[in-house]
Amino acid sequence: MSGMRPTGKLHLGHLVGALQQWVRYCETADPYFEIADLHAYTTSFSDPKAIRDARNDVVMDWLAAGIDPERCTIYLQSAIPEISELQVLLGMMTPVSWLERVPTWKGQIGELGQHIATYGFLGYPLLQLCDIAIFRGERVPVGKDQLAHLELGREVVRRFNYLYGEGKDVLVEPEATLSEFPEIPGIDGRKMSKSYNNAVLLADDEATTTKKVRSMVTDPLKVRRHDPGRPEICPVFALWKIVNPGHVSWVDQNCRSGELGCVQDKADFAAALNAFLAPIRERRVQIASDPGYVERIIAEGSEKARDVAVQTLRDVKRAMKLI
Ligand code: SF4
Repeated sequence: MSGMRPTGKLHLGHLVGALQQWVRYCETADPYFEIADLHAYTTSFSDPKAIRDARNDVVMDWLAAGIDPERCTIYLQSAIPEISELQVLLGMMTPVSWLERVPTWKGQIGELGQHIATYGFLGYPLLQLCDIAIFRGERVPVGKDQLAHLELGREVVRRFNYLYGEGKDVLVEPEATLSEFPEIPGIDGRKMSKSYNNAVLLADDEATTTKKVRSMVTDPLKVRRHDPGRPEICPVFALWKIVNPGHVSWVDQNCRSGELGCVQDKADFAAALNAFLAPIRERRVQIASDPGYVERIIAEGSEKARDVAVQTLRDVKRAMKLI
């Protein structure tokens, strides 16, 4: 099980950090992919229209990246009320201190402001666990920054099974699968993120992508073409590793020797990146031409997901002697 918040169009970081792995899950597992709209409200509760508008965009990016809707279940979090009910039930036995010690609680408030210090945001990691547990998710592809959330979730599951399982595991303890490229740099060298406005979007056209690559930061000590560079600190070099690993040692050598200048390398990289993204962009245009298609996938997936969620919730309520 995995999911994304509908907060805007997806970028290269999503592609290599999650979507490429999701495509493989479609071939080897029975994956559930969630449009996490309730999660989006934890930080963007004052902008419901943006959340609603981004819902289809996110799914279009998933499908364009190669997610096969026939081999997975794509569903809307808010269309499965059992997830929220499970959160209420697990909330009864989750100590507040466990939630407060998750690093993103203080970190995100520091970054985004005190206004997000809500009851809902404090419970964010618990809601995340419910997303996974309701479908008995066994493996969860996550980035490094989400590992603490998953660890909390595993503790809650252990506590639940100990308190109510009577020797059986009613809920499954999910395991993290770390992405091979957990974090990639944006054009300013910081982590690629929509909120930093430094991302290459999957839906960007070629000219926009080329312009963004041209503005990328590089090694600040490589001022002139023949100055020797340090590829290990250069975001362009980091992205070469993703887009064309076969070209990396050539860039490394020629950057260090001063044979290769940043202007040339960025031009080469922009062309390589556009070629890398071309099939995704073509598929996206095709998908966007039929808006009803995405709506149908979400509706059908949500119906299927709900059948599973109802069963898990029934088991949980039985274990808690509620039914
Ligand atoms: S030549 Fe390429 S790898 Fe080297 S510093 Fe310039 S942009 Fe970075």
